[in-house]
Amino acid sequence: MTEATGIVGEFFSLKEDTDAELLAMQCGDFYEFFGEDAETVSDELDLKVSQKSSHGSSYPMAGVPLDDLTPYLKALVERGYRVAVADQYETESGHAREIVRVVTPGTLLETSDADAQYLAAVVDGGTAANPRYGLAFADVTTGRFLVAEAADTDAALTELYRFDPVEVLPGPDSRTDDDLLGTVRERIDAALTLHETEAFAPKRAAHAVREQFGSETVERLAVGPEATAAAGAILAYVEETGAGVLASMTRIQAHHGDDHVTLDATTQRNLELTETMQGERDGSLFATIDHTQTSAGGRLLKEWLQRPRRALETLEQRQESVAALSSAALERDEMQDTLGEAYDLARLASKATHGSADARDLLAVRETLAVLPVLAETIDSTPDLAESPLAEIVDRPDRAAAADLRETLEDAIAEDPPSTVTQGELFQYGYDDDLDEVIDRHEEVKQWLDTLDDREKRQHGLSHVTVDRNKTDGYYIQVGKSAADGVPDHYEQVKTLKNSKRFTTDELAEKEREILRLEEQRGELEYDLFESLRDDVAARAELLQDVGRALATVDALASLATHAAENRWVKPDLHRGDALDIDQGRHPVVEQTTEFVPNDIRMDDEDRGFLVVTGPNMSGKSTYMRQVACIVLLAQIGSFVPAKEAEIGLVDGIFTRVGALDELAQGRSTFMVEMSELSNILHTATEESLVILDEVGRGTATYDGISIAWAATEYLHNEVAAKTLFATHYHELTGLAENLPRVANVHVAADDRDGDVTFLRTVRDGPTDRSYGIHVADLAGVPGPVVDRARDVLERLREEKAIEAKGGHSSDPVQTVFDVSNGQFRGPANADGGERNDDTGDVIDPETEAVLDDLEELDVNETPPVELITKVQEWQEKLSE
Ligand code: ADP
Ligand code: MG
Repeated sequence: MTEATGIVGEFFSLKEDTDAELLAMQCGDFYEFFGEDAETVSDELDLKVSQKSSHGSSYPMAGVPLDDLTPYLKALVERGYRVAVADQYETESGHAREIVRVVTPGTLLETSDADAQYLAAVVDGGTAANPRYGLAFADVTTGRFLVAEAADTDAALTELYRFDPVEVLPGPDSRTDDDLLGTVRERIDAALTLHETEAFAPKRAAHAVREQFGSETVERLAVGPEATAAAGAILAYVEETGAGVLASMTRIQAHHGDDHVTLDATTQRNLELTETMQGERDGSLFATIDHTQTSAGGRLLKEWLQRPRRALETLEQRQESVAALSSAALERDEMQDTLGEAYDLARLASKATHGSADARDLLAVRETLAVLPVLAETIDSTPDLAESPLAEIVDRPDRAAAADLRETLEDAIAEDPPSTVTQGELFQYGYDDDLDEVIDRHEEVKQWLDTLDDREKRQHGLSHVTVDRNKTDGYYIQVGKSAADGVPDHYEQVKTLKNSKRFTTDELAEKEREILRLEEQRGELEYDLFESLRDDVAARAELLQDVGRALATVDALASLATHAAENRWVKPDLHRGDALDIDQGRHPVVEQTTEFVPNDIRMDDEDRGFLVVTGPNMSGKSTYMRQVACIVLLAQIGSFVPAKEAEIGLVDGIFTRVGALDELAQGRSTFMVEMSELSNILHTATEESLVILDEVGRGTATYDGISIAWAATEYLHNEVAAKTLFATHYHELTGLAENLPRVANVHVAADDRDGDVTFLRTVRDGPTDRSYGIHVADLAGVPGPVVDRARDVLERLREEKAIEAKGGHSSDPVQTVFDVSNGQFRGPANADGGERNDDTGDVIDPETEAVLDDLEELDVNETPPVELITKVQEWQEKLSE
C-alpha cells in the first residue's frame, strides 16, 4: 500500500507520521479517507466508499465536504477513535498537506454535551511498596485545570472516578499498572492514550507548567513532582494535538486533601450521586436536586456533590446564600429567569481562544455579560440578598472590564449575524468607517438592482419583468415569453426558458461586477475586523471565566434554595464535634416518589458511636442508612437537608458498603469485592468518618459471615472509632451492645399482630425482637403447613432442641441437632450405650456431662487466663477419652 504515489501516497505517508487511528486529509473541497480508514469510516458513519485508482492500483476512498467535517469528527471521536486532520495549503509548486490537529476524546472542542469533559493524566512516582500518585485534570472546553495527589491506587481511582475523565494519559510507570488501567477502562470508560514519555519528564513538565501559569506556580501549588509531571504532560498533549486552547487555560488549582471529604468510588456509586445503580441519570441525587438554569451551573453543582467540603466557613457562607435565596422567592424566580438568558461563558472563552467562535458566539458572550449586572441589581435592591455572601460573589469579577467588553460587542455585532464569518453582515453599521463606506456602496448597488425591474417596466413598457441572480447566469433580467419579443435592442439574451427569456445589459453586467467586488471586499474586511474582535475577546478569557464562575455559583446556590423551599428542607447546624442529631430526617430521593415516614438519628462518641440496625427484610434499613449518609453529604456541600431539624458534626469521609444483597442480586458484587471494600474502609476510615455497612458478610456462609461481621464491628469500634451504622440480619450482633460501650441497637419497627407483617418504617431504639424471614415467606405465599413447620423448626433451633425429621418411615423419629460450632446438623445419636437426655432430646455421655457441668460453674471473669487454659486442656483430654 505504501508504494502508492500521488494523493494516496501522500495520505499513507502522513498516516505514518501520526499515531491517530484515522486520518482525514483535505483534497480541495473535501476531506478524504483512503484505504482501511475509508472502510472504517464508512462502516461507522454510513459513508459511501468509492475507488480511487492510483498508478495501476485501486484504493477505497470516502470523503466529507469541508464544511461538514465537524459532526463527522465528533461522531468518530465519540466512538473512541483518535482522528488526525491534515489541511491543504498552497506552495509555489502546487499543494502541500500537513497534519494540523489530532482530535481525541479529551481534546474535542466541538462538544454539545453540558457535562465537563476532562482529560486526565496519572503519574506514579512512588515505589511498589509505597506508591504515590500525581494527577492532573483539564477540560479544554472550559479551560478548567486542576491537580491532585493520591497516596495509593484506590485513592487515585477515587479521584479519577470523581472527575470521570473521557481520556486518560497514564505516565510511563503507570502503563504496566493493570489494576489502575483495567479499572479506568471498565469503570470509568475512558480512552487510554500513551503519550510520549518525554512529556512526563519532571523538568520539562515543570517548565511547561511555569510557562503556562506563571513562574511561581509550582511553588504555589505545593504539590509533588508527580502532580506537576501530570500537569505538564497534559499541557504538552493539548498543544501537540493542536487543539489550540492553551490560552483559555488561565489558572491551575490544587485539589488538596485537608478540606476535602473522602468519598471513594464505591460510595459515590452506592449513594447514587450522579447516576443510579442501574446507570441512569434520572433518580440520582444530582438529578433530584438540580434546578440550575445554565449548563455551567449544573456542572458546578455536580462538582460540589462529588467534592463535599469540610471548611466550616465555606459551608456556612453557602448556607447563608441559600437561606437568603430560599426566603426571597420572588427575587429568586426573577434571578433564575435572568440566568436562563446566560450562555456557557467558559466554553465560549475556549472557542474564542481556539479561533472557532463565530459572530453568534460573540453575541452570546455579549448577552451573557449583560446578565451579571441584572443579577447584581436584584441582589443589591433586596436587603436579605444584599447582606448575604451573594453580593460578594457577583462583585468578584472585574465588573467594569466586563461592562467595557459588553459595550464593545454591543456596538459591533449585528443583531442577527450569520454563522459563517467570511461572507459579511457580521457587523453593525457605524462600527468601522472603512466598512461603513463599503456597506454604503454595497447598499446603493443593491438598491439599484432591487428597483431595476420597475425601471425597466416603465422605461420600455414591458410586463412580467423580474431581476434575479443565480450561480450560472449571474444577474439577469427575466422577461415573460409574451413580452420577450418587445425588449429593447440593447438587451442581450443569455438563456431561453420554457415560458421566459433571460437577458443582460452592459449596465447590469457592470453593476454585477461591482456588487461582486463589493461583496468580496465586505467579506474580507469584516473577516479581518471579526478576527481582531475575536482576538480581543480571547484576550479576556480570564475575565469571561470569572464572570462565568460567578453566574454558575449564583445558579447553583439558587438551585439549592429552590429545592429547599419546594421540599421543606431546613438549614442544618454544622459543627466540628462528633454529634449527629437529625430530627425527622428523610431520604432526599425516595421522598420524591413515596409517602415517606421520617426518622430520627442520634449519634455521639459516648454511648452511641456505632449503631447496629436490625429489622425485617424490606423494612427500610438500607434506606435509613443511605438517608443519613445523603443528609450528611448534602450538609457538607452547603445545602439544606430533608429533616425537621439537624445538627451535623462535619465528617472527613463517607464510606459505604451498601446493599450487599441488592448488589448480589444484580450480579455486580462477589464476596471478594465485598471483602475488598470492607478492607478499604477498615484501612481508610478515621474517627471523624461516617461508615455505613449494609449486610456485610452476607456473601458467604452464615457462620463465616457472622464471624467477619463481628470482628469488623469490634475493629471499627475499638481501633477506627468511626461513626458507624451497621445493618445486619445477624441477630447475634445485637448482643455486642452489651459489651462494647459505644455500640447501641436500633431497629426498624414492624407490626405483626395479626400474623402479617406491617412495615411501620419507624426506627426505634433497641434490637428487633425476632427474625421476620418466615413472615416474609408467609407473605410471599409459601404454603401454610411449610410456614407453620418453619416456625416450629426455628423455635427448636433457638433453644438448641432436637428436630425430628418428619416423614421418615421408621416408627422411631430421626433425631437431629443443629450444631452452632460448625453450622451443620448433627446426625442421629449413635446407639452405643449413650444415655438419652429426654429433657432436650440430646444424647450425652457421662464424660461430656461432667465437662459441661464444670463449664457451667466456671466464672470466666474471676479465673486467671492461665488457669483457663489449663482447664480447657483438661476438658479436651476428658472429651477425647
Ligand atoms: P431493607 O434494607 O430493610 O431490606 P429497604 O431500605 O431496601 O429495606 O426498603 C424497602 C422498601 O421500603 C423500599 O422500597 C423503600 O423505598 C421503602 N422505604 C424504606 N424506608 C421508608 C420510609 N421511611 N418511608 C417510606 N418508605 C420507605
Ligand atoms: Mg437492605
